[in-house]
Amino acid sequence: MADNTGNGQKTNGLPRIGFYICHCGSNIAGIIDVVAVAKFAETLPGVVVSREYKYMCSDPGQELIAQDIKEHKLERIVVASCSPNLHEETFRKAAQKGGLNPFYFQMVNIREHASWVHENKAAATLKAKDLCRAAIYRVRLHKALEKRRVPVNPDVLVVGGGIAGIHAALTLANAGKKVTLVEREATIGGHMAMFDKTFPTLDCAACILTPKMSAVKSHPNITLWTYSEVEKVDGYVGSYEVTVKRKPRYIKEDLCVGCMECIEACVFKEAKVPDAFNQGLSKRRPIYIDFPQATPKVVVIDPATCINVKTGKCKKTCVEACDRDAIDFTQKEEKVQLKVGTIVLATGFKPFDPKKSPHYGYGKYPGVFTALEIERLVNASGPTSGEVLTRDGRHPKAVGIIHCVGSRDEKTNKWCSRVCCMYSLKLAHLIKEHSGAEVYNFYIDMRAPGKAYEEFYEKLLSEGVHFIRGRVAEVTDWAMTKEEEGKLVLRVEDTLAGFVRRVPVDMVVLATGLVPQSDAGDVRRVFNIGCGKEGFFQERHPKLAPVNTFTDGVFIAGACQAPKDIPDTVAQAGAAAAEALALVDAGFVELEPNTSYVLEEECCGCKNCIPLCPYTAISFDETKKKADINEVLCKGCGVCAAACPSGSIVQNLFEDAEIYSEIEGVLAR
Ligand SMILES: Cc1cc2nc3c(=O)[nH]c(=O)nc-3n(C[C@H](O)[C@H](O)[C@H](O)COP(=O)(O)OP(=O)(O)OC[C@H]3O[C@@H](n4cnc5c(N)ncnc54)[C@H](O)[C@@H]3O)c2cc1C
Repeated sequence: MADNTGNGQKTNGLPRIGFYICHCGSNIAGIIDVVAVAKFAETLPGVVVSREYKYMCSDPGQELIAQDIKEHKLERIVVASCSPNLHEETFRKAAQKGGLNPFYFQMVNIREHASWVHENKAAATLKAKDLCRAAIYRVRLHKALEKRRVPVNPDVLVVGGGIAGIHAALTLANAGKKVTLVEREATIGGHMAMFDKTFPTLDCAACILTPKMSAVKSHPNITLWTYSEVEKVDGYVGSYEVTVKRKPRYIKEDLCVGCMECIEACVFKEAKVPDAFNQGLSKRRPIYIDFPQATPKVVVIDPATCINVKTGKCKKTCVEACDRDAIDFTQKEEKVQLKVGTIVLATGFKPFDPKKSPHYGYGKYPGVFTALEIERLVNASGPTSGEVLTRDGRHPKAVGIIHCVGSRDEKTNKWCSRVCCMYSLKLAHLIKEHSGAEVYNFYIDMRAPGKAYEEFYEKLLSEGVHFIRGRVAEVTDWAMTKEEEGKLVLRVEDTLAGFVRRVPVDMVVLATGLVPQSDAGDVRRVFNIGCGKEGFFQERHPKLAPVNTFTDGVFIAGACQAPKDIPDTVAQAGAAAAEALALVDAGFVELEPNTSYVLEEECCGCKNCIPLCPYTAISFDETKKKADINEVLCKGCGVCAAACPSGSIVQNLFEDAEIYSEIEGVLAR
């Protein structure tokens, strides 16, 4: 380690600056001559210590800074190393350890901005010198700033009552936190409640899910609001004010015991409404309950089909049948306010719409089903009590399962939906078990990367399920041979055998991919979070912050973030709950001080800044006729400061003088 301390150097009234350049192993030193940069920095006005060191982020590196601050009475620190995203906080803490305000520090990224992007050593070294000079000029003008603390309301909101929301709510509630779980359907359970068995263990979905659903309902720390949606979220981390819209069920939830006598008594003697829970494969009445274990076990009246809600002209036999007086046609939509400190979003996915791939004949041929429809068909409590039947009531002798419908396809969605290979194997097993049919899987690549997943695939091979590698070109009912008459024919290029096959079957199952909910765009705007280009909610960092979002205090879990199976969903829901707990238990959050503020005397009240703020942190003070920035909501993006025509918005750590000085430094060669 070279020690270029220029102890005797006079600073001519400038703050005393310590400069440190990191080798980052050979990441930086392999291209940049760090010794030369350290010697160069030593000559710059104000620099009284200049050092190069192998790993500045290591404990000895940080200790070096802290010691120098004390020994050389340093008043400012510059570290030239990697991205501030990685180690700005590390070096701020080192400065603080030495007794300096942590914001008297500037970091220079000479790794991503110089050594990693240049091959010419001399040019990279020259660029590093320019960048370091800029930081040294800038840091002189830094001001001491303080982080502020705001208290965190311990109550938590969980949105979405699928397995992700259920698991997150129970984890939080078991830790003693008050949780409100908001679900937009009449029951919690999400997609998992529709399945018969789950891969790879083939355990009964209801047997593992319904105890958790009951636990949510009976938990003293959980308030469950089904048939409800979040309409508006105001506030900031630790202190969110949420408006929830509660749709009328026309049933008093506290009185209904789910005896279902009202359903039997409904004037609609025949069930005529397609049952959404059974994917439209059966019919229900206007007054209904989704499935026997629905939670809460409370019936619901569908306003679109109930004669009384629509016309007021019904004998109301349901009301007469209810001896608990639970039916209440006077119910109106309600808006309820809620205060929470943190939010877990778990709004899940929807299956790909197979009509977007018309060559597979969904909606055209009655023998073509989606995987979710088959989940209901093989389910003992489904529309056929578990019997695998085509829509015209036939027992299929041969079934083709087409993988990757709406996944890994340039024409629809490019992403792999991660669960379709595995649920196709599950359905192949269940169809064979329930009907004895020959089952053909048409796959592009078999993806089984989970615990006991490969073994499950091998089990299916041993059960005699057929696997044909190739993307099915089309499903038709055009018979070319006697054998194909009355059948659906799948035409596919078998890429292992190297020829085109025609496979006649009685039933086709489309393994539809997982796509974002239709209203994911609206939901993310309500919660002020981002989404990726495919529409799933965006995590803060794919590896290091997978359940955090860019809005502090809002976490994501489950398939709303990306397609995933139940084990991964549950793990992620636990992680989101733990992140929320960490905030709640700390009791406060620290806010970065690099926020903007308005110089009131200079603000002309033009309001230009208000719609530009991506964090809705700016409001207009009608009394003063000035813009007002909520420093808790402000994330320091600087858009308002850049856009303000009168220059009356200032951002801490990015003041004009600091930026001009930095520019002067970079150009001072
Ligand atoms: C056909 C099929 C079979 C599968 N089989 C298996 C299997 O055997 N094993 C396995 O591990 N995985 C399986 N999966 C994957 C499994 O479905 C997902 O891992 C799991 O459902 C993800 O749970 P989730 O809670 O994130 O989402 P979801 O199950 O989609 O639940 C989301 C919940 O949020 C609610 N919601 C949505 N928007 C809002 C809103 N704005 N406000 C309030 N509530 C809202 C929804 O109504 C729903 O209740 C299968 C998937 C499919 C398509």
